[in-house]
Amino acid sequence: MPLLYLVRVTVSRALLGPLALVLAVALSGAAGPVAAGLPDGGAGPGSPGIGDPYWPRDGNGGYDVDHYDLDLRYRPGSKQLSGVSTISARSTRALSRFHLDLVGMQVTHVNVDGRPARWDRRGQELRITPRRAISRDTDFAVAVTYAGRPGRAGQGRFDEGWISLPDGAIVAGEPHSATSWFPSNDHPTDRARYTFRIEVPAALSVVANGRLEGTEEHGRTTTWTWRADEPMASYLTTVGIGDYDVTTYEEDGLRFHDAIDAGLPGRLSSPSTGTRLAVARGSNNAYQRLARRIEVPPDGATMAFDLARDTEPGFDFVFVEAHTVGRDDWTTLRDLGGHTSSRTGRQCATWSEERPFIVEHYQSQRRRSCRPVGPTGEWWAASGAGDGIERWEVDLGPYAGSEVEVSITYLTDGSFRGAGVTVDDVEVSAGVGSTSFEGGLEGWTVPGPPEGDAANRTDWRVGSTDDVPAGVGEKARRALARQPEIVRYLSGLFGEYPWRDVGGIVEDSGVGFALETQTRPVYESGFFASVSGGSSLIVHELAHQWFGDSLTVKRWKHIWLNEGFASYTQWLWSEAEGRASAAELAWRSWRSMPQGSDYWDLRIGAPGRDNLFDGAVYNRGALTLHALRVRVGDETFFRILQGWPTARAGQDVTTRQFVRYAERVAGRDLDGLFRRWLFTPKRPDFPGARPSADRRTVRDVPVVAHR
Ligand SMILES: [Zn+2]
Repeated sequence: MPLLYLVRVTVSRALLGPLALVLAVALSGAAGPVAAGLPDGGAGPGSPGIGDPYWPRDGNGGYDVDHYDLDLRYRPGSKQLSGVSTISARSTRALSRFHLDLVGMQVTHVNVDGRPARWDRRGQELRITPRRAISRDTDFAVAVTYAGRPGRAGQGRFDEGWISLPDGAIVAGEPHSATSWFPSNDHPTDRARYTFRIEVPAALSVVANGRLEGTEEHGRTTTWTWRADEPMASYLTTVGIGDYDVTTYEEDGLRFHDAIDAGLPGRLSSPSTGTRLAVARGSNNAYQRLARRIEVPPDGATMAFDLARDTEPGFDFVFVEAHTVGRDDWTTLRDLGGHTSSRTGRQCATWSEERPFIVEHYQSQRRRSCRPVGPTGEWWAASGAGDGIERWEVDLGPYAGSEVEVSITYLTDGSFRGAGVTVDDVEVSAGVGSTSFEGGLEGWTVPGPPEGDAANRTDWRVGSTDDVPAGVGEKARRALARQPEIVRYLSGLFGEYPWRDVGGIVEDSGVGFALETQTRPVYESGFFASVSGGSSLIVHELAHQWFGDSLTVKRWKHIWLNEGFASYTQWLWSEAEGRASAAELAWRSWRSMPQGSDYWDLRIGAPGRDNLFDGAVYNRGALTLHALRVRVGDETFFRILQGWPTARAGQDVTTRQFVRYAERVAGRDLDGLFRRWLFTPKRPDFPGARPSADRRTVRDVPVVAHR
């Protein structure tokens, strides 16, 4: 999982009110009396946890799951999930009783080897007592029938699990996710194979881990069967249900399957009339004005136009400014079609510093809140993504008998998101000013920001469809199209890609994070909105296919073995792309957190369950690898980076094992280095020399063949 890049998305979600937590309902079922006198005299209960001190109840003792068969149906309208999950396992001791993990949902039946079993529920524990004890080293199958509205898998920041969406659902969460939608042995040390059989309304599609086996239509519904034959930790399972644009292809012997939410915009718009329109692209800190002077007749006038917008909700705005020529009576005009509102957004507290023009005219501040009325006018603006092309209309009546200057304005803050704004087919009832921009600006002007404001780096221009910025959907498509290249790059670093299948699911889920779900990471669509979003995030999640998915943490405290490696890989990718070198990024990361900052207090080798995904686990983790690289030299470092995931493929790993492995390859003691970087609450010295900022090196990466 990457850092929460989309903090704002999360904030907005939090403002909607906490998600209703679905608490485990203690239910119990009876299937007749338990046979008195167990046939296996040595049988005892399996433990309710696998022994991870961070979450003692996670996972269960006494058996190993081989395969999950999830035969489920989902109805987005009622958000109801129901069906039967069959777990094929092998006992590791004689079991009179054993546990599965499940949160919420209503269990109605449990069978063990085809015979009804007794069961009850305590918190996340589904406790099952088979009629006959299960002998040691014996295969057995448990079928659990259940239904309900799945909710969160846990209380942690990323414990989402099954996320119901208006038009479907998506599953993602770490460390807890699986328990929200199927009974499991929920710990990364019990990896298993999966078959997903998911029945949904016929209009929707389903994407999951592994490979699509086929679909079966039953009139109004379709069952999608996906198989993940390569063992997978339970938190790495995912299912996406929705209306997706699907792309599949084979390259380098791998099967790619990408699913992008079909509702995400491809291009912002196209010309309403003719072949030209006015375009303002998203850009940081820009006050882009498309302006015109208009003589308003004594009986007034209106101005209407087509507008398409994709701007960051609450931070970036579109509005119509107006003032009488020669007078400082600036105001914004309300759209008679209702697309504007008086909401001042979440950026307003900083207007006085960054955009004084706004508070000198349209807004006023009281402490940290803003009012939509300022010294000369009022505030009417739109923010967020519009619904296709909107027809706006403003009343120029207040300027009757005089000359007004109007401006269609797109204002962004220091970190814009969204594609931008387009305008076409302007119609001024007085005549002058009407245009569809076929001949260029046709009397409209691009005057730049208000006097005294910083200059724009980009501004309105007239162009064709080709000049219209790509929407999030198109940006995501372009980013995912780089996956074959990224997998080749990563295979050069880490050895052969661990699976047969690869791809991504891009969903407008609002959760604000991405997750390395096996073979098919889940990406929040907002990541692709910014110009820099995209490939680096994909590199992070695909690096996890080696570090996190193929090599799984034996205990959650070893999480830096996942996040530190995935984060350092992003730095290597930056260097390979000809951008900042890994050493430069290491330097920036180290320098950004001063000595004495809390950041350096975290012992990332054992961060504690509440700090599992703190920034330090990612960045100090990456710095740890950089320190190792500087200590042992590039040749040895890259040998470790490839040898470690190769030697440990498909196994549980610990920090101690990694340290020993690195020492063996390097032929030297590295205890001190790892103690300083992983277990000392203090900022270590920067490893090596401070790099010069303009250093750019491109590392040659050998291309390896895939299965
Ligand atoms: Zn990650």
